Amino acid sequence: MNVPAEAPADCPLCPRLVTYREANKVSVPGGFNGAVASFGDPDARLCVVGLAPGRMGANRTGRPFTGDGAGWMLYETLLKTGFARGAYAARPDDGLELIDCMITNAVRCAPPGNKPETKEEANCRPFLASRLDALPRLKVIVTLGDVSRRNVLRALGLKASAGIPGHGSEFEAGPYTVLNSYHCSRLNTNTGRLTAEMFEAVFQRARTLIDAA
Ligand code: SF4
Repeated sequence: MNVPAEAPADCPLCPRLVTYREANKVSVPGGFNGAVASFGDPDARLCVVGLAPGRMGANRTGRPFTGDGAGWMLYETLLKTGFARGAYAARPDDGLELIDCMITNAVRCAPPGNKPETKEEANCRPFLASRLDALPRLKVIVTLGDVSRRNVLRALGLKASAGIPGHGSEFEAGPYTVLNSYHCSRLNTNTGRLTAEMFEAVFQRARTLIDAA
């Protein structure tokens, strides 16, 4: 069966996440509260894969990494490295455009505590596999955090152990180069585990690889 690259907003495959979506319709009224679609250029050579929508971020606004802390560092870095144009204003109608870049998540629905269960990752992985497969010029995948890295490898039909963990690791996965970064969550940026310089270096490396391709 062909799986689309984007899940329907009311995807029923993960009962726990469906229950959470329903609860968020009450606690986050007027929010998107559904499976968040990928955002970006359908002809992208770079794909950035995050973990899952944040409850008050993408789950609320309906655009990946938009509306909570994680988006600021990601979009500022994409603007700086030429993968975006415009200005990020934490709203889906801010007019920001991605250039040669697609952003998606390993799990498309917000999980409680930002922690998807293994079964939920597995349920959502076919959408991730289709998303990657539907990018005809894809060269570089930036994975944000270990859950993203493992899911990308498995979506590509590889063992989760096939990649190299840790910030700044680089490895080949099928026809793609994977660059792994710590996730740009507030938890990592506020504690200094991930600095703007460390994050930018990953995207500068993506730029170099793409420009050389
Ligand atoms: S996480 Fe993915 S598979 Fe699970 S309900 Fe949401 S869209 Fe469907």
